Amino acid sequence: MNLAHTATRSIADRARARMGAGHPYNPLMPELPDLAVLADAFHAAFVGRPVLAVEAPGPLTLRGTPAEQQALVGQQLQRFHRRGKFLWLELDRDRVAINAMLTGRLQLAGDPTVKRPQKTMFVMRFGGRAGGPPDDAAEWTAGASWMPESAATPELRFKDATQMGKVYLLPAGVDRAVPGAGPGEMGPDADDPSLTPGVWRDRIRRHPGELKNLLRNQEFVAGIGNAYSDEILHAARLSPTRKRSSLAPEEVDELYSAARSVLAGAVEILRQRVPPAFETEVRDFMAVHGKGGQPCPRCGHRVTQTEAGGFVTSYCRGCQR
Ligand SMILES: [Zn+2]
Repeated sequence: MNLAHTATRSIADRARARMGAGHPYNPLMPELPDLAVLADAFHAAFVGRPVLAVEAPGPLTLRGTPAEQQALVGQQLQRFHRRGKFLWLELDRDRVAINAMLTGRLQLAGDPTVKRPQKTMFVMRFGGRAGGPPDDAAEWTAGASWMPESAATPELRFKDATQMGKVYLLPAGVDRAVPGAGPGEMGPDADDPSLTPGVWRDRIRRHPGELKNLLRNQEFVAGIGNAYSDEILHAARLSPTRKRSSLAPEEVDELYSAARSVLAGAVEILRQRVPPAFETEVRDFMAVHGKGGQPCPRCGHRVTQTEAGGFVTSYCRGCQR
């Protein structure tokens, strides 16, 4: 393999190389709906609990020093939230940011005796809390069977087969970059109420290229990746290779409506289907993504599937223009 080829290898190809021969390759990168459900659940399960211990068995995963890691112990979790494809933990004083990348997955272990998954790279153990879930917990989490008891000592575990994901320790007063989450690197969340049709039309003008790349561009809007871009384009009846500059105004608006409805619909489904196995991804309900060769649910035409740089694109030539 020559150097030029190495330099241009895609993220997915590098992931595949790290997994090594004989390992199944899993291209199901977490996106906004997956992470939104997880953030709601982990906020409800962990907020109000103090950190008892922090372990980082994966040296490639952690960005932070052992002293910073130890300094998290004793701080109480105040908030667990999502922004784009990043998860943020706000503790009494310090913060932690998680970028799962391709193969990073988070598990909620009700207590430390639950067997750890292979390739567990980062663990935070929490103590008991006086009351139940916080007042601002998402309604859908109320009374969930997976909610740890108040006195329990649950663990947040991050596993990552390729070790491409990152956990950033961000102590108060320490200026550590979180690549991809810096100022100007991320547009509004694709489900943000402030992202109105007007704002969408204004932002989209700056991006003339192909629609699939546009939707995945986090600087345009944040949270959409390879799978949901396919689903949104199918819902909007637009081809992934169509140029944004060729869209009529009503097609720009159709793309907006499709993005909002596809993401909201997926969140609803995932709330029902994912817990308590938060470390798994559910994608079987999708209309076209990963369904190459199967009939399009709208027009019956066979779904086309292409692969570039290890990433699959699925679309219907019958009803997407
Ligand atoms: Zn079709």
